[in-house]
Parts: sequence; C-alpha cells; structure tokens
Amino acid sequence: QAKERGRDRYEVFGADMLQMTVKRVNLENDLHSAIDHHQFVNYYQPIYALPEYQLIGFEALVRWVKPEEGLIMPGEFIDLAEETGLIVAMTQQVIQQTCEAIQHWQNYDLMTDDLRIAINISGQSFRDPDLLSMLDQTLQKMFVSPHHLTLEITERILLEQSSNILETLTQIKARGIRLSIDDFGTGYSSLKYLSKFPIDILKIDKSFVDEMSSNGHSIVRTIIELAQNLNMSTVAEGAEDSWQVQELTALGCDAVQGYAFSPALSLAAATELLMTRSSNGIARTSS
Ligand code: C2E
Ligand code: MG
Ligand code: MG
Ligand code: MG
Repeated sequence: QAKERGRDRYEVFGADMLQMTVKRVNLENDLHSAIDHHQFVNYYQPIYALPEYQLIGFEALVRWVKPEEGLIMPGEFIDLAEETGLIVAMTQQVIQQTCEAIQHWQNYDLMTDDLRIAINISGQSFRDPDLLSMLDQTLQKMFVSPHHLTLEITERILLEQSSNILETLTQIKARGIRLSIDDFGTGYSSLKYLSKFPIDILKIDKSFVDEMSSNGHSIVRTIIELAQNLNMSTVAEGAEDSWQVQELTALGCDAVQGYAFSPALSLAAATELLMTRSSNGIARTSS
C-alpha cells in the first residue's frame, strides 16, 4: 500500500513539474504579447514629506492588465520579464507612460516643480545601452523636464564590477534626474559604493518598517543616520499605521509612502488627488 502511495506521489510530483514548465512557457508567451499590445499600466503611489505630509511625488508601479484575468501584480511577472530580457521593452513603456502622465498633469497645471515621479529600473534595463537616449527622447517629445524624474535602482546594480556603472549614473545625474536606492539594506549593502556613486535617496525597505516595534527600529535609525552623514535623503516604504509614521518622523526620516497614506492609484485617481491638493491651496508653494 505504501508503494502505491509512493507511486502516486511520484506521479503528482511529475505532473506538477510539467505544469510549472507549461505555466512558465505560457507566461513568457503572454508577456511577449503584453508588450506588443501595450497591456502594461502604471499605477502611482503618493510619497509624502515628513513631518508635514506634503505630497512630493509618486512612485510608478506597473500592473499588467491581462485580458480575461484583470490586474496582475508585478510580483507575478517582473522576475520572468527580467530573466527573459522582456523587461527592457516593458521599462520603455513604463517610462513612456510616466512622461505621458506628467505631460497630462502639466496640461492641467497640476505638476508643480516640487513633484517627482520615481521609476523602477531593473538590472537589465539599467544595462540597456539605449536607456539614456530613450529617456532623453521621451522627455523631449513629451515636454517633460528631467527634474521631475527619479530612477530607483537596486544595490545589486552598484556591485557589478563594471566601470560603465559610474559613467551611466553620472550621465543620469547630469540631466537633473535623481537617483534612489530601492529596498536599501536588503541586498549586499556596502558602504564603499555609497560614497563612490552619486546617490540622492535611500529607500528604507518595508521589511524594516514592518519590524520597527522590535529589532527593525535600530536598523531604520542607522539607515537614516547614514543617509544624513552622506547628505542623502530617506524615503520609508510600506508604512501601514500611524505609529510607524510617528516613529519615522521622530527618527528624522524625510519622506514616506505606504498604505497609512495611500496605495498605488490609477492615473485617474492620482489626477484627482492632485486636483484636491491644488484646490486646497497647498499646491502653489513653488510656482
Ligand atoms: P518596490 O519598488 O519596493 O515597490 C514597493 C511595493 O510595496 C509596491 O508593490 C507597493 O504597492 C508596495 N507597498 C507600498 N506601500 C505598502 C504598504 O503599506 N503595505 C504593503 N503591503 N505594500 C505596500 P508592487 O506594486 O506590487 O510592486 C512590487 C515590486 O515590483 C516593486 O517593489 C518593484 O521591485 C517591482 N516593480 C513594480 N513596478 C515596476 C516597474 O515598473 N519596473 C520594475 N523593474 N520593477 C517594478
Ligand atoms: Mg521601487
Ligand atoms: Mg522599494
Ligand atoms: Mg521594497
């Protein structure tokens, strides 16, 4: 009887493996078609300055509007897009859409000088030799100033032993685009690259904010002090309650994003937020 069960289990395992492979191949095909049919849609999560909660921008977070299936979150497709190189074309669409959104907000006089949109740039996209010229062209075509953009990169990118990295980062900075390190502290954090590269912002990963009531607190404090010593600013991600926001404020964190304020919003909802803000009179501080 045990033998039989064993055999069953083996068959189930085999079927699972096959199913996984089929799923992966299907997903890859679907991703190709998603790029061809422009099925990626940006959502925008508001970022607020501390301690006064002024809106200072958004992070563009991609979703895949898959026919028949609805909104697919990036956790389900970014890794495969990265492995297959499809991320390069996807990132181009994310950048294009971000600039379209900024242009849209400019047309309605909602895009004040202090607002910046952060775009996530994966390793493959960062190494794309066309990244800079594509950025330049898109910004120009849409009449968008590079000052409205921040690029979020990961620690992993900075660890590669390539001399092109400093060159690319310097070129990005020269345009007035800001550079942010995403999920700071979760990778191979090295103090060496922080002083070597022209980084503006450290994003404190949600996992540390989550653990602020226990051992995450000293990590968050250390990252903020580090940033202050290096003349960088900090954005905490994934703050879900007001206690976390209070603690982040007390520690001198510069800005925060998270469900405590807002999830990522559709273009329409983000536009509405900007409109409410401008009708409240908070918007006209910089123009
Ligand atoms: P990330 O860049 O660290 O983005 C933050 C993630 O945390 C987002 O998930 C956001 O919705 C989520 N988040 C923010 N505040 C809260 C909160 O209070 N509670 C909880 N539970 N979650 C919160 P999302 O949109 O699912 O994105 C996941 C990851 O996918 C991103 O992590 C980023 O690494 C990647 N990603 C998203 N869009 C893009 C993109 O356009 N290009 C690339 N290369 N990667 C992207
Ligand atoms: Mg990010
Ligand atoms: Mg992040
Ligand atoms: Mg994160």
